[in-house]
Amino acid sequence: MQRTAAYSALVLHSRPAGESNREVYLLTGEEGIIKATVFGGPKSKLRAHASPFNSGKVWVYRNPVKDSVKITDFDIRCWRPGLRELYDRSMTAAAITDTVLATRGSGGSWDTALNLTASSLDALENANEELCPRLLIHFLWQWLSLSGLQPRLETCAACGKAAADSPLWLDIREGDALCANCAPKEPSVLLRIGPGSRRWLDTAGRLEPARLYRYTMDGKSRHEAKSLVCALLNAALGKKLASWEW
Ligand SMILES: [Zn+2]
Repeated sequence: MQRTAAYSALVLHSRPAGESNREVYLLTGEEGIIKATVFGGPKSKLRAHASPFNSGKVWVYRNPVKDSVKITDFDIRCWRPGLRELYDRSMTAAAITDTVLATRGSGGSWDTALNLTASSLDALENANEELCPRLLIHFLWQWLSLSGLQPRLETCAACGKAAADSPLWLDIREGDALCANCAPKEPSVLLRIGPGSRRWLDTAGRLEPARLYRYTMDGKSRHEAKSLVCALLNAALGKKLASWEW
């Protein structure tokens, strides 16, 4: 067994472990999510490097006898200090990393998951309050695609009729988007997805996060798109994440 391995990684979360160490969750392009310990007190350079939202090359040492995993070095490529300069940015960044952790890295390609997470945080670094919610919706929509949970929004999932300018209705139990005829007659399980939010998700959903600033959305469409992505992830996880709702 190889004891030391290097990873392309992004720090998702860090919390105290014991007297002066920290337990860190990394999203890696090679093995998905890895939990590792950082040894050293508050003045440790390694500990400062292994802070949330930083990314770079990380060396991890595994001791099979002690069943321990520790970070031995961290070559930082991106610090993303801008995320801490604005409340909306840091809250959005936390919602993104919480989603990655809660879904255990999506189950799709680790490399794609890492690229999407890193490029969303990069775009967020310069975002204003108005762009932050759109970046989160975009990230969650792409994450649904990676997880194989993204529904089709051009046609009704039951009868195949094109939605055109009519709204579709998401059945939140099944995760399908249905036309008014096919939707169950139980308003409590339905979410409206109007043409505005559908078009935005279809167009902006294919773009790199850095280009999103050009694609605005009215308040109603934004609310519908956010409700849609959260309902789908909520159904997959069996719970809502508090960080989606700030
Ligand atoms: Zn239908």
